[in-house]
Amino acid sequence: MTRSLPGDTHGGRRRAVVIGAGPAGLSSALSLARAGWQVQLRERLRKPGPRLCGSFLGPEALRHLETFGLMDAVRRAGGVPVRRARIFNDKGRETNRPLSPAGMALPRETLESILGEAAEKAGVDMRWGEPSSVVLPPAGGIGVLAAGRFAGEHPPAAGRGWYGWNAAFDKVLAEPGEISLHFHPGGYVGMLTFPDGKTNVCGLRWKKAGGPWEDVFEDSLDRLPSFKKRLAAAERRSDWRGVGPLPHALSMRRTPDGVFPVGDAAAVGDPFFGEGIGRALGAGPMLLSALAAADPAESHRRLWRRAYGRRLFWGALLRHALNRRPLLDLALWGAGRLPFPLE
Ligand SMILES: Cc1cc2nc3c(=O)[nH]c(=O)nc-3n(C[C@H](O)[C@H](O)[C@H](O)COP(=O)(O)OP(=O)(O)OC[C@H]3O[C@@H](n4cnc5c(N)ncnc54)[C@H](O)[C@@H]3O)c2cc1C
Repeated sequence: MTRSLPGDTHGGRRRAVVIGAGPAGLSSALSLARAGWQVQLRERLRKPGPRLCGSFLGPEALRHLETFGLMDAVRRAGGVPVRRARIFNDKGRETNRPLSPAGMALPRETLESILGEAAEKAGVDMRWGEPSSVVLPPAGGIGVLAAGRFAGEHPPAAGRGWYGWNAAFDKVLAEPGEISLHFHPGGYVGMLTFPDGKTNVCGLRWKKAGGPWEDVFEDSLDRLPSFKKRLAAAERRSDWRGVGPLPHALSMRRTPDGVFPVGDAAAVGDPFFGEGIGRALGAGPMLLSALAAADPAESHRRLWRRAYGRRLFWGALLRHALNRRPLLDLALWGAGRLPFPLE
């Protein structure tokens, strides 16, 4: 007797519905389509556009792009290597963190347009402007929940917690490919500069809901001399964007039978380590491995836990330290020494 895989349509092509065209959804759709699945990808946005975060690609993200055969496209699109991270505390003290292997700076919308083109070429049926509140696996198929951090049925109530914010700037004092992280108790600001001279300024802040992002930005300038110095002549080139409170988690979200959670929809980690896009891009290859196992859901959960469980734990620890003055410098000292990427 032959075993029936999820998505087995008894001779026809196996079908998958993917919800969300972020890096996790695109990686899943691309991997499944290349493996012969019939894939529909539903995205609530009408078209790709600028995003809040995710312009730094860590070595793991680059490895997945290499496996997809997309690194030439990424280089042609202007991806620039990032060979070290400069980490500052709120007194301006610097820790230098070499990145070996190097990471890369690439605007998030460029990454998604490269992945989107590859997915369409592989035959994915891309449906823009189609929000889905539930993922039901198609008859005899699978569902992939890739709808990001708020993919739960009950988004967290606005209140106190960690909020992300960003804007693009020109004329920042930084070289293309330079990444710097500026920490203070209760938050940090990260800066990443692209070859066209634009810099993504992106922060995380423990705060209450409400209040303009401009105030958070001004407060960050006051608290962080290293940040203020780099922004001395800078001009803002985009609106402020913000999100939160972020629903950080240590374990994988539970989903109905036949539905696989991936990327931030599986669990939201901490941005400090620059690994979210790597986790998202790894979604497709991990899904394919799990689908080849006798119990795909259990295998997916096990592979995911083995790959990310420990890192999410370290991220949570650093996040707690970030909120307490005496632990902040110790955490930054550790961040300069932890292996990168974290295994
Ligand atoms: C402040 C901040 C900075 C960060 N910086 C970095 C960084 O530099 N490098 C890095 O590696 N990681 C970074 N991260 C983390 C990284 O951005 C995420 O881990 C990554 O984007 C997760 O990808 P995803 O595809 O799972 O989710 P998302 O990128 O959130 O994509 C989800 C997609 O689903 C769509 N969607 C949502 N709901 C629905 C619905 N109901 N129906 C259809 N579509 C839906 C959304 O529109 C979106 O397109 C950062 C995070 C934060 C908060």
